[in-house]
Amino acid sequence: MIVTSDELTDEMAADVAVCIVGGGAAGITLACELDECGHKVLLLEAGSLKPSAETQDYYNGIAHAPHPAANEFRRVALGGTTSIWGGRCVPFDPIDFEPRDYVSNSGWPISYEEIARYYPRALEYCDAGKFDFTAAGSISGGGPTIAGLEPNDVIERDLIERYSLPTDFGRRYGGILRMSRNVITVLRARCIGLEKAVGEDRIEAVKIAAASGRSRVIRSAFVVLAMGGIECARLLMASDPRGVGYGNRTDRLGRFYASHLETSFGRLVPHGAKVAFDFEKTDDGVYCRRKFQFLPSAQRRHRLLNTAFRLHFPEYSDASHGSSVMSAIYLAKSFLIPEYQNILQQDPAHATSSPAPAHWRNVMSGLPNLARFGFDWVFKRHLATRKLPYTLVPNADGSYPLEFNCEQTPLESSRITLADDLDAHGMRRVRIDWRRSDSDLLAAQRAFLLLRETLGQSGACRLEFDDGVLVERLSRSAPVGGHHIGTTRMAFSSSGGVVDTNCAIFDFPNVCIASSSVFPTGSHANPTLTIVAVALRLASHLRTRLSSE
Ligand SMILES: Cc1cc2nc3c(=O)[nH]c(=O)nc-3n(C[C@H](O)[C@H](O)[C@H](O)COP(=O)(O)OP(=O)(O)OC[C@H]3O[C@@H](n4cnc5c(N)ncnc54)[C@H](O)[C@@H]3O)c2cc1C
Repeated sequence: MIVTSDELTDEMAADVAVCIVGGGAAGITLACELDECGHKVLLLEAGSLKPSAETQDYYNGIAHAPHPAANEFRRVALGGTTSIWGGRCVPFDPIDFEPRDYVSNSGWPISYEEIARYYPRALEYCDAGKFDFTAAGSISGGGPTIAGLEPNDVIERDLIERYSLPTDFGRRYGGILRMSRNVITVLRARCIGLEKAVGEDRIEAVKIAAASGRSRVIRSAFVVLAMGGIECARLLMASDPRGVGYGNRTDRLGRFYASHLETSFGRLVPHGAKVAFDFEKTDDGVYCRRKFQFLPSAQRRHRLLNTAFRLHFPEYSDASHGSSVMSAIYLAKSFLIPEYQNILQQDPAHATSSPAPAHWRNVMSGLPNLARFGFDWVFKRHLATRKLPYTLVPNADGSYPLEFNCEQTPLESSRITLADDLDAHGMRRVRIDWRRSDSDLLAAQRAFLLLRETLGQSGACRLEFDDGVLVERLSRSAPVGGHHIGTTRMAFSSSGGVVDTNCAIFDFPNVCIASSSVFPTGSHANPTLTIVAVALRLASHLRTRLSSE
């Protein structure tokens, strides 16, 4: 059943076994998994069915460039940020879970297999097909990414990334939540505090601000925080009347905040060889794209962070690409949401912004192409259930800009804290102090040099870039918006993090966290598939705990 906070009766709010706070990808997955578990589950969502300016204001806070504004790249509504996500689904790799002596604070307290066994089902939730990320296993007759690039001991060549519909979890699973007999989804129920049982290491209730502005307290045996990588830490900090932060006995809460570093630099020039650049469809009907990665052995040998490279498209803003489609998208960018305007802008410090007439000339001289694109866009994007993820226009000169994406070394000093300002419910707003390590720049530099050397030796293609500006360009890599990692990291003991291997807070075993905030390291992979896998694993753990209590 789905109700609003003002419709929630005392009877509905009584005898709650699990209270899930946050109805995004993680919270909804968990709620669906606990459907028909025989216990009452409350899913509390701060927003309504759609985002509004009033609820979006909860996310305002302090952040400094290049980090996006605090209320950007996340959404307050049922389905959370999946209402605007791009849908790229990529699993983490075994090496992400290993302690690596060249990456400080690396290593998960659980193995890759512990998460990987949930990937097949996580892919089902994300509508992204089977758990196979190789071109050979996924695309019959797909061919290599770059013809003639032979196997070597540095690069994994023929890997793919799968794309979700993109699935808006609120819309996709709203029906299950509406029909559920034991899960009650409560909209406009923003959790503004956790209440600790006197003299016990237990959270006994959550305090919510209802749509009417009235606050009320809901008691629950278990609480799961699933509010995204920033809000989980914020709520724990804001709930503690001592000002220390719940779960913060060892000062780990809010720290190790990481995203992914991303930039576009250099160009790959094929030596006449065929290149798989565009979206392809897997045999199970899912859009996918190719990527390059370094083999784990090469990562260890060269002390690299886990990094992915993709063939990219030219800058939209630079009309010398000569594409009517890209110029039309560029001219229409003010109609896009701010997040996608940012993505289109690429590296603002280095983008060549041509004046509007140059873009109009491209548009006028390429009208037939534009008409074809418009037709495709309507049918493949707007009317299709499985949408073409985005537009890929190759460079007119046959070269491909390179998109670089890598994990960050987790840093204690990169952190979320509370600002002094209060929001409409009297909660302190968030302050985001994102940092990255200088050693990450050096690792990124090594990655570019190694890729250039390896591709050059292959004879199939070459990678060109200006060594003189490489580090400066890498230093401008922006944190990818919407990837919020590490603020309540998982560890063996409270000295290393906030939650244990079952995602339960060390200090409060009846409170668990389902979010990318528990990831000790972030891989190069986008986080959502792994967030869903973590939520599935937690659901299984909670079912066991519920049946034994
Ligand atoms: C433009 C864009 C593109 C993206 N593309 C990709 C991609 O291609 N691949 C990928 O893997 N990821 C992508 N992401 C990231 C992806 O959207 C997030 O990883 C994912 O949505 C996180 O899921 P979540 O459930 O942890 O958090 P969210 O989806 O943010 O959900 C959190 C929920 O908690 C609710 N909430 C917050 N505070 C409270 C409170 N106090 N009380 C009650 N409820 C609360 C919110 O309203 C929200 O519904 C993208 C993000 C953006 C913005």
